[in-house]
Amino acid sequence: MLQAFLRDLVGRLCRCTKVDDTMLVEGTDWLYAVGDANGRALLTHQGKYQARAAVPRVAFTDPEVAAFGITEAQAREAGVDVRTVEHDIGQVAGASMHAEGYTGRAKLVIDAERRVVVGATFVGQDVAELLHSATVAIVGEVTLDRLWHAVPSYPTISEVWLRLLETLRSESAERPPGAEPEVAAGPARAVREP
Ligand SMILES: Cc1cc2nc3c(=O)[nH]c(=O)nc-3n(C[C@H](O)[C@H](O)[C@H](O)COP(=O)(O)OP(=O)(O)OC[C@H]3O[C@@H](n4cnc5c(N)ncnc54)[C@H](O)[C@@H]3O)c2cc1C
Repeated sequence: MLQAFLRDLVGRLCRCTKVDDTMLVEGTDWLYAVGDANGRALLTHQGKYQARAAVPRVAFTDPEVAAFGITEAQAREAGVDVRTVEHDIGQVAGASMHAEGYTGRAKLVIDAERRVVVGATFVGQDVAELLHSATVAIVGEVTLDRLWHAVPSYPTISEVWLRLLETLRSESAERPPGAEPEVAAGPARAVREP
């Protein structure tokens, strides 16, 4: 409440560029504004934090960490109807083809109201190569229903997308009305906050 009031006050006092929660400038579909320019929080580290939401991030470590979009915490702060889903990348067939004993984890942050992915994080060997698929899904605001038609090749690490969607669908909120419950796929977790 106080945060919303202060944000509104700053917005009125400065000639700021209005952005949505992904830092996309209102009235455009390509321009992002972070830092003081959007007037949301005139602080050094807040500007850097916002920048992370608008660009793909990869830590080229072993394992790699790759992320795009907003985090679960950012989504909650923004008042998004958050749902998250995770899956072990090592459990998909393509991972074992990629490296013996592959371990990794994928997590999606979902806006349950709009039924779109708003954030994605992958940890594991060579997951930077998975990131652009997440970037396209998030920037394109591809709905969960539409994502079902983006069938990954077998055997590839991209199969984790299918497993994530299956896990989501196994939850009651994702099932069509009257549908029988499905068995959740593998070592995965779908979470909907109360
Ligand atoms: C006196 C003062 C004290 C502060 N103390 C703190 C503090 O203690 N802690 C804290 O977290 N924050 C503090 N801040 C706020 C912090 O400095 C800003 O929030 C932060 O610098 C914003 O970063 P930014 O990259 O968005 O903008 P800036 O750091 O302002 O960077 C914008 C850059 O764009 C350049 N630029 C502008 N117009 C153009 C143009 N047309 N073409 C090309 N370049 C252009 C500018 O020269 C500037 O280099 C303070 C600010 C002030 C003024």
